[in-house]
Amino acid sequence: MAAAQKHDDSLEKIAADVRGCPLCKLAQTRKNAVPGEGQLSAKIMFIGEAPGHSEDKEGRPFVGAAGRILDDLLKKAGIERSQVFITNMVKCRPPNNRVPKEDELTACRPYLDRQIALIKPKVICILGRTAYSSLLGGSSITASRGKIVERAGQKYFLTFHPAAIIYNKGLLSALEADLKKLAEEINKEEESKASLEDYL
Ligand code: SF4
Repeated sequence: MAAAQKHDDSLEKIAADVRGCPLCKLAQTRKNAVPGEGQLSAKIMFIGEAPGHSEDKEGRPFVGAAGRILDDLLKKAGIERSQVFITNMVKCRPPNNRVPKEDELTACRPYLDRQIALIKPKVICILGRTAYSSLLGGSSITASRGKIVERAGQKYFLTFHPAAIIYNKGLLSALEADLKKLAEEINKEEESKASLEDYL
């Protein structure tokens, strides 16, 4: 559930807070914190697990091998970068890319909640098991992928983390199909909004 939006908050302010954040032990090992990237007007928010080596080096999300896979599949699905905001459950790289620990997820969560409260995305696209379990309490992304789940008035779309493709190329076509389905969902919403406006 998104936090109540503070009236003077902004994506820039959140990014500055994240870059100076000392709230968990990942602050001691990061090179750069990675707040996330995208427009305030984004219709889709992609939420992964944590920054990796390239992201830590550059301070930007999804710029390594997994990011290139995501970019390519977004393009194939006809989703513009300007339609999306990309971030992670934790904003600093865990050593050796280990899964973020519960206390790290808890410490970092307010930044994500503030981003969600500001952007108000039509759909939050959950990438992989860590984000699925942390945001919705789910366990198997394989069993749930390609589905829309609604919680507290917020739509979530579930799919694999693009990094999974690096280890199992067989998942590529499933991720590609899921992102096309997500694009259709957004287009459907836009069309029904346009039709409604015709009558107002
Ligand atoms: S992971 Fe989040 S809570 Fe931990 S230091 Fe980085 S920004 Fe702060």
